[in-house]
Amino acid sequence: MLGLMQSQQLLISTLIDFAERHHGEGEVVSRRVEGDIHRTNYREVAARSRKVANALDGLNLAFSDRVATLAWNGYRHLELYFGVSGSGRVLHTLNPRLHPDQIVWIANHAEDQVLCFDMSFLPIVQAVHSRCTTIKHFIALCDADKLPADTGIPGLQSYEAWIAPQPATYTWPEFDENSASSMCYTSGTTGNPKAALYSHRSTLLHAMSGALPDALNMSARDAVLPVVPMFHVNAWGLPYSAAMTGAKLVFPGPAMDGKSIFELIESEKVSFAAGVPTVWQMMLGHMQACNLRFSTLKRTVIGGSACPPAMITAFNDVYGVEVLHAWGMTEMSPLGTVCTLKNKHLSMEPGDKMKVRLKQGRGIYGVDMKIVDGEGAELPWDGKAYGDLLVKGPWVISEYFKGEGGSPLVDGWFPTGDVATIDADGFMQITDRSKDVIKSGGEWISSIDVENIAMAHPSVAMAACIGMKHPKWDERPVIAVVKKPGCEVTRDELIHFYEGKTAKWQVPDDVIFVESIPLGGTGKMQKTKLRDLLKDYKLPNT
Ligand code: AMP
Repeated sequence: MLGLMQSQQLLISTLIDFAERHHGEGEVVSRRVEGDIHRTNYREVAARSRKVANALDGLNLAFSDRVATLAWNGYRHLELYFGVSGSGRVLHTLNPRLHPDQIVWIANHAEDQVLCFDMSFLPIVQAVHSRCTTIKHFIALCDADKLPADTGIPGLQSYEAWIAPQPATYTWPEFDENSASSMCYTSGTTGNPKAALYSHRSTLLHAMSGALPDALNMSARDAVLPVVPMFHVNAWGLPYSAAMTGAKLVFPGPAMDGKSIFELIESEKVSFAAGVPTVWQMMLGHMQACNLRFSTLKRTVIGGSACPPAMITAFNDVYGVEVLHAWGMTEMSPLGTVCTLKNKHLSMEPGDKMKVRLKQGRGIYGVDMKIVDGEGAELPWDGKAYGDLLVKGPWVISEYFKGEGGSPLVDGWFPTGDVATIDADGFMQITDRSKDVIKSGGEWISSIDVENIAMAHPSVAMAACIGMKHPKWDERPVIAVVKKPGCEVTRDELIHFYEGKTAKWQVPDDVIFVESIPLGGTGKMQKTKLRDLLKDYKLPNT
């Protein structure tokens, strides 16, 4: 017997419809590329999202066609989130921090049809547009009078001129909730980047679970500042959870420095902010230097890489702000765990409580986890045994876009590449990364990419890239190099060799010349041994 309840597909358009009807006055505030503060609300965002949908229809885009963005966090990007996905197209958020060659590869692989970009990224688009073979339309996210006359980009028009003539009425199409809604490429440790392709259903369920009290605890009384970029895993789903709860949204635009972020928190009475540790480090540094205090911020979610204990202490003890340590990944939309305490932890001694807070947290509803040993046998949840962490749930990928890399699942579980413990209360803690990618300022650097460039130098016999702890960027790459016999190359020559071959922030900070690199039984480099050998090494200028 079937239940006798109304059936409605879980579509992203229902989020903006809801926000418009129930929270029409709910504010959306953005610091713009233009430098000013722009104010709008859910009612206007909804109307302009419908204009976007009409404008896309006008370009004759088919269902599931990809519309790419190269944009900061702001209201126009938010309108694209709803207008693109709501009308049945797929929003592809490109990462502007990638090297232009990577952007070209990704845009072509995704077969993007339209590219909407912030004016800060005009030079990138000018450099790549002729090589993006599938993009037919270029839209600059600005007013018509901000568009320079001769950009060299064929058919370029301003977003405002593009949507101005469109009606603000539009009937959002009804379709299968499992249809693709947005996509995000991971940098991948081997081979080319691979894309997670999210669905309407996965996005809505993720947003709903993410908003729960023991997750991010979002409500209409919150003013939310996603510092985490909208081009990285949909800003952890915050734009969707905000529309679902009617929370005020505050967007930082391109100004991510500590002073600008602090000022925005104060001027917009932000109660909840989200970002990677690097961002908070810059803001805390600014606050310390200027002896500042928060007047409205209550909690902050910190994830993307491990949150240092000093940061938790500073937020909690000095500024009275609760830190929610969280863990997830692109393949998980991204939320997996959030470290919200249980009753039993509240009466703990500060030192013991800190040990719990440092963990990545417990699974939110919808994400199941397990840790397994080398043979795939499940390990106990005792907080001591550690093994490979696997996850499953309705917002975890089943495969990558276009089937790249074959099936990633093991008996229906997704291997995260992280190594972790889980304690009896279900709190997971990452102990290590089985991958060797380097996390710098919340972004990935593929050690293999860095090595491949060094290996292309005529004097280099072997190169191994590892991440070294850095006080500001979390980790920075250094490269250990074995020279070819009889060949010479200096540190500076090798660093110079990276110029133009990769993005600046992916260039290693230092070169260490070594006699040999430890190799394992199958001839693979043993980076754990290399790290041991270099344990006393210190990065330059740290
Ligand atoms: P990404 O797909 O770029 O979001 O990166 C996901 C990876 O970042 C995870 O597999 C972890 O290795 C790492 N990560 C994310 N959050 C945390 C955290 N709170 N602590 C430690 N590592 C984290």
